Amino acid sequence: AKEQGGNQHAVFTPELDSRVSERLHLQNRLATALEAGEFVIHYQPQVDATNGVICGMEALIRWNHPEYGLVPPGQFIPVAEESGLIIPIGEWVLREACRQNQAWRDEGLSDFSVSVNLSVAQFRDTGLLTLVRHALDETGLDPHYLELELTESTMMDNPERLITFLEQTRKLGVQIAIDDFGTGYSSLNYLRRLPLDRLKVDYSFVRDITNDPASASICRAIIAIAHNLRLGVVAEGVESEAQASYLARHYCDSLQGYYFSKPFGAEEITALLRQREPL
Ligand code: C2E
Ligand code: CA
Ligand code: CA
Ligand code: CA
Repeated sequence: AKEQGGNQHAVFTPELDSRVSERLHLQNRLATALEAGEFVIHYQPQVDATNGVICGMEALIRWNHPEYGLVPPGQFIPVAEESGLIIPIGEWVLREACRQNQAWRDEGLSDFSVSVNLSVAQFRDTGLLTLVRHALDETGLDPHYLELELTESTMMDNPERLITFLEQTRKLGVQIAIDDFGTGYSSLNYLRRLPLDRLKVDYSFVRDITNDPASASICRAIIAIAHNLRLGVVAEGVESEAQASYLARHYCDSLQGYYFSKPFGAEEITALLRQREPL
């Protein structure tokens, strides 16, 4: 790593240069990937903690790269955010997730909402509400069956705008969840004033439930905050029976994680939904 501490300018090294050009290359590739239809959505079920019935589905993007195979979002979403490409990519995710949930509904396979992740860049874009409306109109999905996931930092980026946006989505009937809850900083007082529907307990607290009493008490505290604010609460990253039963015993409403199901492509999820009892 290059020392940047006392220097006015970062030292421009061949190593840095190649990273910059890699980024530029990735930006260009991302633009063509969208046109070429190389993005896919995997869906991860959320289950009701009391009975294990599927009660939600989170949409998670992957890039099906012709050479590298499935590329996880952590490897391209940050670049898409920097370059602004997250706007058209995010629009595609929103429309595709709505289309898929409506297709499941048409088949009698879904009575749950689909959750779509929004990044702060999408949120800064003034067209977001129109985009949400269009996605719903075009796919015919009832707004109640769409949930948008925002993080605390997105929430705090432009609070005034957030309030306006949330009031409008509330009117539409779209659900709002705060993702990775507990890892950012949002004022609880502020939280109380926003028209939210759910909090998602971050994976990092769930992971340590059984071996770290502090993590377990943070999980219980988040569940209590959610319920006191009359919000639902879902825990993500549930990997074991012990974590699942702990969360269920402490009244977490829904659970999501590898213990129940990994995220899978639409076809596999359709097969999974067909195996279940009719909803
Ligand atoms: P996230 O929204 O917090 O999504 C949860 C991540 O945890 C997903 O990773 C999921 O596959 C993974 N996961 C689920 N269950 C478990 C588990 O039991 N154990 C562990 N260790 N991990 C689990 P993924 O799919 O790689 O997504 C990473 C992040 O990329 C997401 O974090 C989200 O912030 C972002 N992302 C994904 N799709 C989109 C998208 O369409 N738009 C935007 N803006 N961001 C997205
Ligand atoms: Ca999420
Ligand atoms: Ca999350
Ligand atoms: Ca996360």
